[in-house]
Amino acid sequence: MGVTIITKVRLGLFYFWSPSLSAMNKDNIFDLPFMDNVAFPILIGVFAFFALLEFFIVLRPWKAKRLPRWVHNALLSITGLPLARFLLLPVTVYSAYYFGQHNIGILNWVQLPVWLEWTLGLLVLDYAIYIWHRLNHRVPFLWRFHNVHHADTEMDISTAIRFHFGELLMSIPFRLIVIAISGVSPMMLLLFEVIFESATLFHHSNIKLPKWLEGGLVRFIVTPRMHGIHHSIVKDETDSNYSTVLNWWDRLHGTKRLDVKQENIIIGVPAYRENADNKFWMLLIHPFKKQREWKLRNGTIPERREEEKEEVFR
Ligand SMILES: [Zn+2]
Repeated sequence: MGVTIITKVRLGLFYFWSPSLSAMNKDNIFDLPFMDNVAFPILIGVFAFFALLEFFIVLRPWKAKRLPRWVHNALLSITGLPLARFLLLPVTVYSAYYFGQHNIGILNWVQLPVWLEWTLGLLVLDYAIYIWHRLNHRVPFLWRFHNVHHADTEMDISTAIRFHFGELLMSIPFRLIVIAISGVSPMMLLLFEVIFESATLFHHSNIKLPKWLEGGLVRFIVTPRMHGIHHSIVKDETDSNYSTVLNWWDRLHGTKRLDVKQENIIIGVPAYRENADNKFWMLLIHPFKKQREWKLRNGTIPERREEEKEEVFR
């Protein structure tokens, strides 16, 4: 029997779609109808949309052929995405269900209007991802894995799926703690997953939005220009803009930066800019090798010259 959550919420038309909208099947935790029937088709559409736009409105000019990068990024994603679908999602969604059944977690203790409960749940998940992302940069052991994502020498939609499976695996205990404390429901988790993945695809894509549009969006959410600064080879630029969906978390913690023009940004990690560093096999074993310092091969540490700075959005 499916655990239907939407039936409680009654989202208009979606209500009638409820057989495929159940978050999970508690008799088979690998069966996630909402994920497979609704979320995946949406995410494939979002991916295709931004991938197509990258052919027409390019933010940072392409420096190299895209296909070789895409092949290595896609190969890496093949080691990570099945793990996300068949381990990370079932474990976290079932845990949310279990905690709900056993009255564990703040949202399970308090009685709130549905809209408020959902808003808080989604905000908590977005904020938790901000903290997790920041930890990935701060803790050297975690950085070994997250570095694989950052070492991409250009940033486009394929970078959005370039994550080491170790990073996904290690996020599971962190997510379980967040779920246990917050008491978010299985459906909140899955809805957040759609929002989170769509936002990730959007802000990694190399698309040039008109400045008025991006300037408006960047008041609320992470945009391609904003996340481009996070992928810069300049260390203190990488150490900024950690948010995924809403960028209010960066504002809250003073890590939001919008003062670098995209044409002055070199994407990547300075010590890992060779083609050989970015081959699938090297990416896979990267976390287990001795890590190089944050320096270019000629020994210099990339810095931002004052004259290259410019407040991008005003
Ligand atoms: Zn990062």
